[in-house]
Amino acid sequence: MRMKAKNVIVTGGASGIGLASVERCLEEGASVVIADLEGGDGQARAARLAEQYDGHCLFKACDVTATVQVDRLFADTVAELGSVEAVFNNAGIGGICPTDELGDDDYLKVIDINLNGVFRVARAALRVMVRQGSGSIVNCASILGVFGQSQTAAYTAAKGGVVNLTRTLALEAAPKGVRVNAIGPGYIDTPLLEALDDDMLQGLIDLHPLGRLGRPEEIANAFLFLASDEASFVTGAHLLVDGGFTTGK
Ligand code: NDP
Repeated sequence: MRMKAKNVIVTGGASGIGLASVERCLEEGASVVIADLEGGDGQARAARLAEQYDGHCLFKACDVTATVQVDRLFADTVAELGSVEAVFNNAGIGGICPTDELGDDDYLKVIDINLNGVFRVARAALRVMVRQGSGSIVNCASILGVFGQSQTAAYTAAKGGVVNLTRTLALEAAPKGVRVNAIGPGYIDTPLLEALDDDMLQGLIDLHPLGRLGRPEEIANAFLFLASDEASFVTGAHLLVDGGFTTGK
């Protein structure tokens, strides 16, 4: 029960890596807030998870592109749970398009969710955690935060930004007792990859020396480590969980 008595917020917690992280945190005894877009059966799902893990799980609608919603997410969580010990800044979308065909709106949408959203959530988290004198923020970056990839201009720009934003936040937060790290997943088998056809997927699998896509729970395990006290001397890191992708071929 590594996360016992800890309150955790997971943005984009209704799907893929976020949902796996919610489940691992519940298994380890945390109270968890799923923060995701309105719609679907968020409340009912949170109730089902709470029952399944015999724990405490809430759903709060939050679009990370809206400062007012992000700030309310933290205010409401503190009002209900009293504190926030860990945040997984995980909400994100993909985007594949040749750069010369990429319109402003599509480019800016990816930046606003994947980079500016991380900033908004981290800022709100810092305001709470600095007051507490402790906490752990984990930002979801990517192997595409350190590698380029054709036709992903907005996504790679955003993820590269997340990696370096993490370092700056870590420096600012360290004297206040707050740790800030990033995780860099390789390609992970989630709905985010549904847009890719079989040939594209196989091409990506071949870039991972372990010869497969990652599983959402393998990223959740990295989040759990960085969020927990086991990582008490880790800050400013970009932990690559990528089946060897970034070691080269
Ligand atoms: P999913 O699409 O499965 O999950 C992303 C979640 O974020 C969804 O629930 C989605 O909601 C939500 N979301 C989207 N936009 C917003 C928003 N504006 N505000 C709040 N929530 C939002 O993708 P993954 O689990 O794969 O992705 C999670 C993170 O991991 C992302 O940051 C992604 O970039 C990163 N990542 C993923 C990799 C992969 O191969 N899968 C590789 C490297 C990094 P909805 O479904 O309603 O749109």
